Amino acid sequence: MSKTDALPGFHLLAKPTGAACNLGCKYCFFLSKKDLYPGSNFRMSDEILESYICQYIEAQKIPQVTIAWQGGEPTLMGLEFFRRSIQYQQKHKRQKMTFQNTMQTNGTLLDDEWCEFFHKNNFLIGLSLDGPRELHDAYRVDKAGKPTFDKVMGAAKLLRRHKVDFNILTTVHAANADHPLEVYRFLRDEVKASFIQFIPIVERDNETGFQEGDRVTDRSVKAEQYGHFLIDIFDEWVHRDVGRVFVQIFDVALAAWAGVPPGICAFSQTCGTAMAMEHNGDMYSCDHFVEPKFLLGNIGDRSMTDLANSRKQRKFGRDKLDTLPEYCLQCEVRFACNGECPKNRFIKTPEGEPGLNYLCTGYREFFRHIDGPMRFMANELRLGGAPANIMNYMKTGQISRVIFKPGRNDPCPCGSGLKFKKCHGKAG
Ligand code: SF4
Ligand code: SF4
Repeated sequence: MSKTDALPGFHLLAKPTGAACNLGCKYCFFLSKKDLYPGSNFRMSDEILESYICQYIEAQKIPQVTIAWQGGEPTLMGLEFFRRSIQYQQKHKRQKMTFQNTMQTNGTLLDDEWCEFFHKNNFLIGLSLDGPRELHDAYRVDKAGKPTFDKVMGAAKLLRRHKVDFNILTTVHAANADHPLEVYRFLRDEVKASFIQFIPIVERDNETGFQEGDRVTDRSVKAEQYGHFLIDIFDEWVHRDVGRVFVQIFDVALAAWAGVPPGICAFSQTCGTAMAMEHNGDMYSCDHFVEPKFLLGNIGDRSMTDLANSRKQRKFGRDKLDTLPEYCLQCEVRFACNGECPKNRFIKTPEGEPGLNYLCTGYREFFRHIDGPMRFMANELRLGGAPANIMNYMKTGQISRVIFKPGRNDPCPCGSGLKFKKCHGKAG
């Protein structure tokens, strides 16, 4: 592969402890990946660390480099490991390069020293928290089955005290899916989270731990349930929190309505530019496909850039689009959904075609529900306004005028006094 054929850039989730974690969250899809490396100590060596940083920097086309740490639980590596990783970033960086390190953590091992380090080195932390105590502790327990809520809340406090930027990552599952507002208000008002990411738990029920079979565990969220979860939170958010609380799926949807790329793989047409790397340097097509079938190779044997640009990986990424069933191709919200992640595509369409997303019903309902407000906010963006203006509009009680788009010659529902076609109906 020549350099000019190379991908414009790619992301890598590095898993320095592989699947090793100090907790035993009941729905975790990654714990079983330990079986892929029998006898391993699940600790990334210094040699792999330096090779990873050096090759990753080499592969970057832009000066802003994001280094993403994930697990298992990355803090099990100890602080020294991450100090060395910063030294290697400095050692191998090219002129004008800046680094953003991100880390997804359960937070239970954090202390002042970790947080000082995060602050000093500009880390962005993703903290896993599933809602108020009883909803969080339903599945997020330690190895002995004990609750973890207090420790995670302690971590959020520490991160805030040390002024470390952090997002909350909340999985949506059987225990919390029927409590959307309780979860959202808790994260917004008590945790004071400004950035929230919801991840639906769709956990396959099989012996392998791979993305196989069409049964899901009882812990999984149901499709309609997930749709309603998002809708209830959206309705609260669009009335009072736009511009001050950022919910990833709402941002992604707004991007789709505004006609710009969504920025996350699950809702993009194709994927394949976000790979995962195990503790020993093995690179896989994706974090959700750490399976022998999706092993690309080891960065000690072949360069990371070659692996990322391999035919196998390109096909993996294109398959997201190429395997969409006709039902999706005809769907009016496909521009926002794009069939979501292939890992969840294991049910049949009403016509019996395989490959439909398990969460389809929920996504369809959600994306249809938000159409009106999204049109409004996308228009605001096109006209150089702020999406947050939607909140004034919602206050007028004319929500029905937003959802059922006004005629071109109707007065614009924003109250400007202009015709709709001359105001918010102007662009797009
Ligand atoms: S398989 Fe899913 S999670 Fe993996 S890169 Fe594709 S869309 Fe993203
Ligand atoms: S909502 Fe359903 S049919 Fe439409 S694109 Fe998404 S998965 Fe496909």
